Amino acid sequence: MADNPFARSATYIKSAVYPKDYPDEDYPELAVAGRSNVGKSSLINKLVNRRRLAKVSNTPGRTQLLNFFLVNERFVLCDLPGYGYAKVPDRVKANWGRMIETYLSTRGALGTVMLLVDVRRTPGQWETDLIAWVSQYGLALLPVVTKIDKLSPSKRKPAIAKVAGVLGLAPKQVVPWSAVTGEGLESLWRRIDRLTGTSDVRD
Ligand code: GDP
Repeated sequence: MADNPFARSATYIKSAVYPKDYPDEDYPELAVAGRSNVGKSSLINKLVNRRRLAKVSNTPGRTQLLNFFLVNERFVLCDLPGYGYAKVPDRVKANWGRMIETYLSTRGALGTVMLLVDVRRTPGQWETDLIAWVSQYGLALLPVVTKIDKLSPSKRKPAIAKVAGVLGLAPKQVVPWSAVTGEGLESLWRRIDRLTGTSDVRD
């Protein structure tokens, strides 16, 4: 994976549930959210050019936590726990929602929430709730449609337009992404760079 000129370093900082345990690092922060299986770990790994970094978030005991990483020594990436395991009881889902909302509403350094949606799926209530929080707390939304390699080129545009429409966005706002082909890597980095105020990638 030497084809990623954007990622210089990525290190795991810590995991947390409550604000008192969030890291003290004073960097702009970007949170990454998505349903389980949307391709979140694959995206994070590809983005930072580390094959197993996001595995940290998938180790037992950490799947329900906020997992913080320092990227390029320029911004903090917070991997939010994946939503949507059918087997998770409602009580756990409620705690999960509280943890996310507390994080979104109290984390001063947080500026952007990247929301991943599978290009083949229609976003649901969870995605629209998250977008409502993002807007309520004055954060920027960075929407990404994942797994676009699964669709033939002629089907991509309408599928992206559909996802964008359900999310109340224009198709242009959504970054098409494939962890398999690497498509979207540069535009994603460009957006991250702009939104976190770091300047490693230039237009
Ligand atoms: P997470 O649960 O959101 O962290 O999802 P993972 O990153 O573990 O991915 C779930 C499954 O989707 C795995 O089998 C991945 O190999 C696959 N996957 C992830 N991203 C892509 C992608 O961009 N294209 C394709 N074809 N498969 C992907």
